Amino acid sequence: MESDAMLHPDTELRKRDDQIGYGVFATAPIPMGTITWVLDPLDQILDETRLRLFDSVLLETVIKYSIVNGRGERILCWDMNRFMNHSCEANVLSPGMPLEVAVRDIADGEELTNDYGAFNIESDFRCSCGAGSCRRIVSNDDFERLAPFWDEQLHHATARAHWVPQPLAHWLHEEHGLLDRFRFPDPLPSVLAHRWRVVGNGATSAGPARMRH
Ligand SMILES: [Zn+2]
Repeated sequence: MESDAMLHPDTELRKRDDQIGYGVFATAPIPMGTITWVLDPLDQILDETRLRLFDSVLLETVIKYSIVNGRGERILCWDMNRFMNHSCEANVLSPGMPLEVAVRDIADGEELTNDYGAFNIESDFRCSCGAGSCRRIVSNDDFERLAPFWDEQLHHATARAHWVPQPLAHWLHEEHGLLDRFRFPDPLPSVLAHRWRVVGNGATSAGPARMRH
């Protein structure tokens, strides 16, 4: 089995089509509750100071492949997680912790998808993901509106974490915020912990926040 570091080992990069390019696909069933990605020390966390050192070509590439975290820094994954595409019905989401979890059972051959509405995107984009609930336009403002829905899915998925295989167990450390044996904290830290919002001249973050249920 080929492993791509801190992304689930039962995944591979596949060319999807010429328009979208590459995507991350499951090579075996991945059950709901599986931790599919964890932040590790090789992932680049780039703040403003560091980004200012890049020339325009490098900066453009970094912006394309990175996401903005709750502190306004860019996370550039060194593993193929950076190729994960958007779906308005994403099967992988991140609670307010530096990891991602399968929120549904993912079938062998199915594409793993994130919701870019949770990535503090700087500009809206048109979506034709094909999901029944496709929003057509994915925008920065989706975050607060959809957070309760994402939190609810994560609440159910993380309750299963203890009962499914966790091949990324080795990479989990205290900083990822799990309690013992894949037990997630209750209440689960809300996705809103990743919220970064630029207001006027300055920037403020809404996180960290906690889910209530
Ligand atoms: Zn869509």
